[in-house]
Amino acid sequence: MELTNLSAVELLNLLSNGDISPREVAAAYIKRIESLDKKIKAFVHFEPEKILKKAENIRSGKLNGLPIAIKDNLCVKGEPATCGSRILSGFRPPYNATVIEKLEREGALFMGKVNMDEFAFGSSCETSCYGPTYNPWDTSRAPGGSSGGSAAAVAARLVPWALGSDTGGSIRQPASFCGTVGLKPTYGRVSRYGLIAFASSLDQIGPLTQDVKDAAMLMNIISGHDPKDSTSVDTDVPDYLAALNGSIKGLKIAIPKEYFSSGIDAEVKEAIIQAIEELKRQGAAVEEISLPHTEYAVATYYIVAPSEASSNLARFDGVQYGLRLCGTEKANENALIDMYTKTRGKGFGPEAKRRIILGTYTLSSGYYDAYYLKALKVRTKIAEDFKNAFSRFDCIVTPTSPTSAFKIGERTNDPLAMYLSDIFTIPANLAGIPALSIPCGFTKENLPVGLQLLGKPFDEALLLKVGHAYQQQTNWHKQMPEMANSS
Ligand code: GLN
Repeated sequence: MELTNLSAVELLNLLSNGDISPREVAAAYIKRIESLDKKIKAFVHFEPEKILKKAENIRSGKLNGLPIAIKDNLCVKGEPATCGSRILSGFRPPYNATVIEKLEREGALFMGKVNMDEFAFGSSCETSCYGPTYNPWDTSRAPGGSSGGSAAAVAARLVPWALGSDTGGSIRQPASFCGTVGLKPTYGRVSRYGLIAFASSLDQIGPLTQDVKDAAMLMNIISGHDPKDSTSVDTDVPDYLAALNGSIKGLKIAIPKEYFSSGIDAEVKEAIIQAIEELKRQGAAVEEISLPHTEYAVATYYIVAPSEASSNLARFDGVQYGLRLCGTEKANENALIDMYTKTRGKGFGPEAKRRIILGTYTLSSGYYDAYYLKALKVRTKIAEDFKNAFSRFDCIVTPTSPTSAFKIGERTNDPLAMYLSDIFTIPANLAGIPALSIPCGFTKENLPVGLQLLGKPFDEALLLKVGHAYQQQTNWHKQMPEMANSS
């Protein structure tokens, strides 16, 4: 058995027993990254020498030097954090994100930063200033986004697991496209301190892993209240690993009819139907429901998210972070404006500019009430749909994405088509509820399909339990892309 094919839990067993050293593990993954990442391009920052040195000195914690990849919008002290954007070139944060701090305390080994759409704006990992990441199942296709680097790295076994962030689907959609597990926790479950903000009322950090058990293990480490993030909630964190066991007999599952209507690929639909059959076989009671405001979710999101993004990105102006482009040699009364316009004009890519313009418009006086305020009201309606459903059901099952991985370049000139890829993932962010994506099949072209499980606020444990029960009886999560098998 190839070391790099093991799950995080399996690898940790070997590390904890002393069967293998952190340095040996690090060396095996470095070798793999060096051979495979030429084709995948998941890593945007990777320093093998430094990693090996770190691996030799790891002494503390439960993780014993277990490697992990970090999305490029999370702050690791002294390391580049560029969000896939030119405007942050040269920026090295002087502090660790809370999730990084927690992982470091447990002895995780950071393998570097992985690619993402610029500032997490996208669903394909193509808006990054570094160029796209390629899907390990078919390198002519996108890995999904924005956490495409994280998902592709896990799928190709360049790392056992990775951290991503999810504002409208950025963990779950790439997980679905790459055949990995991805969890967006409840809003407030995981501290966002040190996550470079996209839309503060929607962003969450979460795991991308090979299986549900690994996701539970990572959630045990990163969850919990943090005084440094006022939106993190002070409520007990269960032991997610311990909660995995047990039958799902009698569980009440709802299937929202709006998620199976037009626009969904026939092969995706079939895989989801088969997965629901498996849950029924295990004793779950399944019933169709309606979430009537679903059709407004994408429109609502594309007002709320860019509004918040335009405000969050105002800080990137050449003064404090990253890139600074100055207009003239001599100081004059226009020098400051010159610097702002040059820095932002050159520093942001086209999608970031589109979002800033959109968000500035929807927040401006005269339009605020018509757009932003209206969107907030619809957001409440969408959240109420879920609340009603969860008064009768334990969880909701849907496809993660209407299609499997699309071709690189296929949607780059059509923002609307790109935005619609998130039609099934966005509602969970608007409502703040947890959502898990797990592999549930393949299309005829051998592309993974993802099943999405939605739960009550802070009920990640139940989603993980259902996902684990499903993975006990199926093998989809064990499949590896050809290139990962043959290396
Ligand atoms: N694809 C969505 C967007 O472009 C969601 C991205 C995300 O979750 N960060 O906004």
